[in-house]
Amino acid sequence: MHTKTAGLYIHVPFCLSKCRYCSFYSITSVELMDEFVKAVVREMAFYKDIFPSFDSLYFGGGTPSLLTTGQAKTLLDAAQKYFDIRPRAEITTEVNPGDVSLEYFQSLRREGVNRLNIGVQSFDDSLLKFLGRRHTAKQAIESIETARNAGFKNLGFDLIYAVHGQNVKTWRQTLKKALSFSPEHLSCYQLSLDCKTPLYKQYKQDGLELPSEKEALDFFISTSMILTEAGYIHYEVSNFARTRKFESRHNRKYWNHEPYLGLGPAAHSFFGNRRWWNKANVKTYLKDIGSGKKPVARSEQLSNDELALESLFLGMRTADGVNLESLKKLYGLDLLAVKKRIIGTLIDHQLVILKNNRLCPTLEGMALADSLALI
Ligand code: SF4
Repeated sequence: MHTKTAGLYIHVPFCLSKCRYCSFYSITSVELMDEFVKAVVREMAFYKDIFPSFDSLYFGGGTPSLLTTGQAKTLLDAAQKYFDIRPRAEITTEVNPGDVSLEYFQSLRREGVNRLNIGVQSFDDSLLKFLGRRHTAKQAIESIETARNAGFKNLGFDLIYAVHGQNVKTWRQTLKKALSFSPEHLSCYQLSLDCKTPLYKQYKQDGLELPSEKEALDFFISTSMILTEAGYIHYEVSNFARTRKFESRHNRKYWNHEPYLGLGPAAHSFFGNRRWWNKANVKTYLKDIGSGKKPVARSEQLSNDELALESLFLGMRTADGVNLESLKKLYGLDLLAVKKRIIGTLIDHQLVILKNNRLCPTLEGMALADSLALI
């Protein structure tokens, strides 16, 4: 049984249009938003006695900034009613530039939202268009300024790199522009294309190439160098914080293998040694909740070996690495004893280091995080 404070995630599965690279679950009709909000409130009631308390709440999507202030308030009030939301909980909402206004942001702040994650992606209009984003660079800048004017002191931006037509030089300019707003947090993602997305099909059709391994590494290392030189902490493969205080508390829960409850269609949850996820369909989700059923698609019980592997996989994505003592205590895995030779080789190649009984990736190791976990 987990005793750690959990994270609460609410998946808002609505978007006004679909970005061409996106493989997240969302639909482009907002007709069912009211029903959806009521259903999430009912879903909270299913879990009210299971999760001890939450110190982070994250509205993700989809496009949570499509929620009206009234709908956001309904969800926040219900979360307070059904759960123990800790007094200084981190409450984040993702924001799509272009949907927002000063009144909207002010109202979110009044309701308790204290962190915004703005889906800037780029400050280059042609690139935004290529990605199929609805907003322009001007709207991205306006939403940042409006968020600051509304009093938000904890802002994160999402940015994408390694897109066709972009090179390290133009990416540097994007980072420079982002830094001019002194965001508290930056998430820099390499474009990855699921084969079902329209952009993947266009890449295939037009013979466009994804960056080679070397180019991708160049983007990754340059990003880290530019942002760490600007004073940011590179604390996870794609994530940077101005100080440790501004690391995403909510996302940390995923990487630290801490419990989280996901509500809404397609949302994932993790508690004890069990993981489950909801059906990725708004209508089925509403129907299940309407008939008093949890809308769970599947659940799985993880063995100690699986949990240990996951801990390793997730830990190797973070600068703090994996706590070897915890691996031993929780899952009976003595990694140093079992993988002595391989770890020695990784240390020789400067991909990992041992520090305070933790195995931590170096910057080059972080670039290969997913493969490192397979040791
Ligand atoms: S706004 Fe986000 S969730 Fe919606 S389509 Fe675009 S990338 Fe996907």
